[in-house]
Amino acid sequence: MAFSHQVFKKIETIVGKANCSADREERLCYSYDTTPEAVYPDAVVFPRNADDVSSVLKLANQYQFAVTPRGAGTGMTGGSLPVKGGVVLVMTRLNRIIDIDVDNLIAVVEPGVITGDLHRAVAQKGLFYPPDPSSSDFCTLGGNAAECAGGPKAVKYGVTRDYVLGLEVVLPTGEIIRTGVQTAKGVVGYDVTRLMVGSEGTLGVITRLTLRLLPKPDLVKTATAVFDQMETAAEAVSEIIRQGIVPRAIEYMDNASIRCAENYIHAGLPVDAEAILIIEVDGSAGETEHSMQRIEAVCRASGACEFKSAATSQETEGLWKARKAVSPALFAYGPDKINEDIVVPRSRIPDMVKKIKALSRQTGLTMVSFGHAGDGNIHFNIMLDKRLPEQLQKAHQAIDEIFDYTLSVGGTISGEHGVGTSKSSYMTKEISPEFLALMRRIKSAFDPAGILNPGKMLM
Ligand SMILES: Cc1cc2nc3c(=O)[nH]c(=O)nc-3n(C[C@H](O)[C@H](O)[C@H](O)COP(=O)(O)OP(=O)(O)OC[C@H]3O[C@@H](n4cnc5c(N)ncnc54)[C@H](O)[C@@H]3O)c2cc1C
Repeated sequence: MAFSHQVFKKIETIVGKANCSADREERLCYSYDTTPEAVYPDAVVFPRNADDVSSVLKLANQYQFAVTPRGAGTGMTGGSLPVKGGVVLVMTRLNRIIDIDVDNLIAVVEPGVITGDLHRAVAQKGLFYPPDPSSSDFCTLGGNAAECAGGPKAVKYGVTRDYVLGLEVVLPTGEIIRTGVQTAKGVVGYDVTRLMVGSEGTLGVITRLTLRLLPKPDLVKTATAVFDQMETAAEAVSEIIRQGIVPRAIEYMDNASIRCAENYIHAGLPVDAEAILIIEVDGSAGETEHSMQRIEAVCRASGACEFKSAATSQETEGLWKARKAVSPALFAYGPDKINEDIVVPRSRIPDMVKKIKALSRQTGLTMVSFGHAGDGNIHFNIMLDKRLPEQLQKAHQAIDEIFDYTLSVGGTISGEHGVGTSKSSYMTKEISPEFLALMRRIKSAFDPAGILNPGKMLM
């Protein structure tokens, strides 16, 4: 793949000098995501519209340089790293909420809109957009669609895929297409919308999204259940689901994550607890009251030593702030972390918690787990110093073992963070050679020259 000064000059002509840069400082700013690697692109481009994207992609096919789409760079698997150089296409200037249609419960947005901004805008109109990754204050809707982001509310409301009705996409070869519908239903043609969602920017660049909205629930109630054993907290989660109660969130934090979040945010979390569950229900006043009573009964029967409902909206906000702070706060335990987001069937959460605990003892490495327990999605983090080869080797062995165990109980190695560069070498554990071959054929049908986000997912 080749990128030259001559190519940069052509890009300048397409998007204008104010919307591209080959300066080292600018390239540094777009060389990383939340993974430890950093790779400099040759140039950074800020498209103003789909036509800009199309022209850059056509040029990339002509001159054979790589193009990597990027939202806010909060991805956890290296998806926006320009591993083959070329251009990083930063989508953040396409950040308009074009329409919020209250009558038809849809929003039309550009990909650079910050997820939390859409939450607030639709809430003002009495509506609700459920996908809510813990990064919602800084990630983008385009990045969410590309990763099929989840978050705490997925347990009741599903993930980004369930809310994307249609897309405007620039194909790697430069054509602009519209997929899906603006209506509640639609079955004309292949479901390319669903193929694009979760394709990690390898099949097209999303330039507009039509999203499904819901009416805002009347009431939301939040509570914390405190446990002196991780296993009993995990069993409570399984039991809540078994009893047919559907909270809108059941988040799990182990002792290590409670301590570092509390250190970071000071939300009054019980730092001596082995585990807590943050549980949220929504609906009418009667429904929420009834569900919370049943949940409290299950938690207490499972061994919760305390169950406390948040009394004020400030208390609720504090709890969520603390939960959302866990990921960055973890660096208190070591200079490096390897972050995985396995999902197991909910009934197997207690077994997985035991497995992680045993591996931590066996390897002597600090392993912190937290996550969206309600849908079986456990973020387990191995804290280490990567400069120490022995620690690194033990960490990789532990990951191998956790992945094998996850798959053996019917789980998946990534619930929401995607594959990117960090999990591509593990794909064959979960996906058969025949399926991988089909994926390669799909990729080359969309992107015959292999210029869009190369080196990701399929390597
Ligand atoms: C503190 C923290 C908490 C997090 N919590 C969650 C969570 O609860 N749930 C969850 O699912 N994730 C979570 N994440 C991960 C991350 O925020 C999500 O993956 C998010 O969707 C990435 O959005 P982004 O705008 O930052 O995308 P980027 O990181 O910039 O890009 C991610 C991928 O999307 C592609 N992409 C971006 N924009 C486009 C576009 N317009 N067209 C095509 N491809 C595109 C990129 O090429 C890349 O492959 C968390 C991250 C952090 C740092």
